[in-house]
Amino acid sequence: MKPLIELQNLSKQFRIGKKLLSAVRDFNLKIYPGETVGLVGESGCGKSTVGRTLLRLHEPTAGKILFDGVDLLTLSPFELKKMRRKMQIIFQDPYASLDPRMTVQDIIGEPLDIHRLAKGRAKKARIEELLHLVGLNSSHMSRFPHEFSGGQRQRIGIARALAVEPEFLICDEPISALDVSIQAQIINLLKQLQKKMGLTYLFIAHDLAMVKYISDRVAVMYLGQLMEIAPSLTLYKNPAHPYTQALLSSIPIPDPTIEKTRKRIVLKGEMPNPLKPPSGCPFSSRCPLAFEKCRNIVPRMQEISPEHFAACHLLDERKNR
Ligand code: SF4
Repeated sequence: MKPLIELQNLSKQFRIGKKLLSAVRDFNLKIYPGETVGLVGESGCGKSTVGRTLLRLHEPTAGKILFDGVDLLTLSPFELKKMRRKMQIIFQDPYASLDPRMTVQDIIGEPLDIHRLAKGRAKKARIEELLHLVGLNSSHMSRFPHEFSGGQRQRIGIARALAVEPEFLICDEPISALDVSIQAQIINLLKQLQKKMGLTYLFIAHDLAMVKYISDRVAVMYLGQLMEIAPSLTLYKNPAHPYTQALLSSIPIPDPTIEKTRKRIVLKGEMPNPLKPPSGCPFSSRCPLAFEKCRNIVPRMQEISPEHFAACHLLDERKNR
């Protein structure tokens, strides 16, 4: 199958004073039509930068972004605007992303105006349809964002993103700011919408527990680079990278007997300053299994089993035994 999204050696650097900060380095990812790829890693690992660079909200420093085979970096501003209709984003904090002075009708109607998709009665009918689609109703149209709960505001954000009939949605930590009970509702809504509309998702989250129930495949990022990617079941059952293993070991297990006896991997220190990344493997300064080679040579990404890839020297060591 042809990927809908393909990132080829995507890199993004930001200038901080006289220095260059590498937020994303040589990032490769394919996302196939109708699938959800979860992108996880600690705060500051570059996952949101991947999402924003993919949409060209940040201009990449190097690499290619292909949407359905079309290189987005070669498009004129007019062509890019047309293409953006197909790619939308839902943000972490729905309150910050919704203009408090606009009614729900205006918020959801705005993209319809920008892309000249509907006006007059047809526009109103479309807004009502979108509200129903996300579990709200027409009585909500004349209200303002502050009159809604966090979960309802996220539903408004989703309705606005869907207004232009996108094929691909970036969900940038869409449930992190919500109560646990509401998180499941939003995940279920996103799953239903995906099934109904054939949507493709990149679901960004800071921990593996959040993406477990929605992702077909999960990609783990550290210090701007991809560490491991695999089908969800494989990654949760058989993580190959020490960083993934550490992230998984920190997820609490509801069974107190198992929780009490299992081994937890506690990572030392913070993620290094991206302005001064370690040489060799990006994870070498915190990895409990690091050895000399790790501090000198960048590990290559290699396939361990079908669709399961990881970048760690230990994989070579095991092969050579
Ligand atoms: Fe740890 Fe070395 Fe593997 Fe990096 S390459 S994850 S430092 S063992």
